[in-house]
Amino acid sequence: MRIILFGPPGAGKGTQAKKLSEVFGIPHIATGDILREEVARGTELGKLAKSYMDRGELVPDDIIIRIIEERLKREDCRNGFILDGFPRTMAQAEALDDLLRRLNIKLDAVINLEVSDDEVVRRLSYRRICKKCGKIYHLMFDPPKEDNICDMCGGELYQRDDDKEEVIRNRLEVYRKQTLPLLKYYEEKGLLININGERSIDEVFNDIIRVLESKR
Ligand code: ADP
Ligand code: ADP
Ligand code: ZN
Repeated sequence: MRIILFGPPGAGKGTQAKKLSEVFGIPHIATGDILREEVARGTELGKLAKSYMDRGELVPDDIIIRIIEERLKREDCRNGFILDGFPRTMAQAEALDDLLRRLNIKLDAVINLEVSDDEVVRRLSYRRICKKCGKIYHLMFDPPKEDNICDMCGGELYQRDDDKEEVIRNRLEVYRKQTLPLLKYYEEKGLLININGERSIDEVFNDIIRVLESKR
């Protein structure tokens, strides 16, 4: 299964991708996570990426495309993968097509999680992430059992630097301008599946599973 999870920041892409990754036994590839790892390690790439991420702007295409090319060529992607947060620009979508052609593989579906701007702000303002295992929480909608501690691994939870209201607004703007046009691109390829993302995590998940089963 080769899937793209599409949707605005905060739509629930990471949350759903982690669940799908477990069910299908295929890797969850999130360009945002890869970039944050580089930032945490203090690499040159991380320093450059951070200057864009802090403002809610996109990191330049050539950097992202290089990261994805390297990642998709790894052995664990042979039976499929879930892309989360990539592609985000037309140039990235075209580079992905080119790469898939060279690898002689095809996408199965592009799942678009539809969520309103108000819901995005509500979700991102209260998002918390485990420092150790990356599990995603929401202080109201999906809270940890114990304050600030991960249920899965006991790690400490943190808030992302870019999950602040003014940066969130800019990320939404950037999404609308640079990423939204890709929907038409994938619709024309017959790959687009729209899912109402404004329901519970389990309802959204069951819906995704249902449409993916019907594709098999
Ligand atoms: P969210 O899941 O909230 O949408 P991400 O973790 O996917 O956020 O991305 C965080 C930031 O990382 C983005 O605002 C952008 O600066 C950078 N980034 C992630 N993926 C890409 C990409 N495919 N192209 C350009 N920049 C990206
Ligand atoms: P994305 O990867 O698209 O940026 P996340 O998966 O990180 O989105 O989810 C953003 C926030 O919304 C997190 O705090 C997460 O716990 C919460 N969330 C995800 N899906 C839902 C849902 N269906 N209902 C309510 N909150 C959700
Ligand atoms: Zn954890």
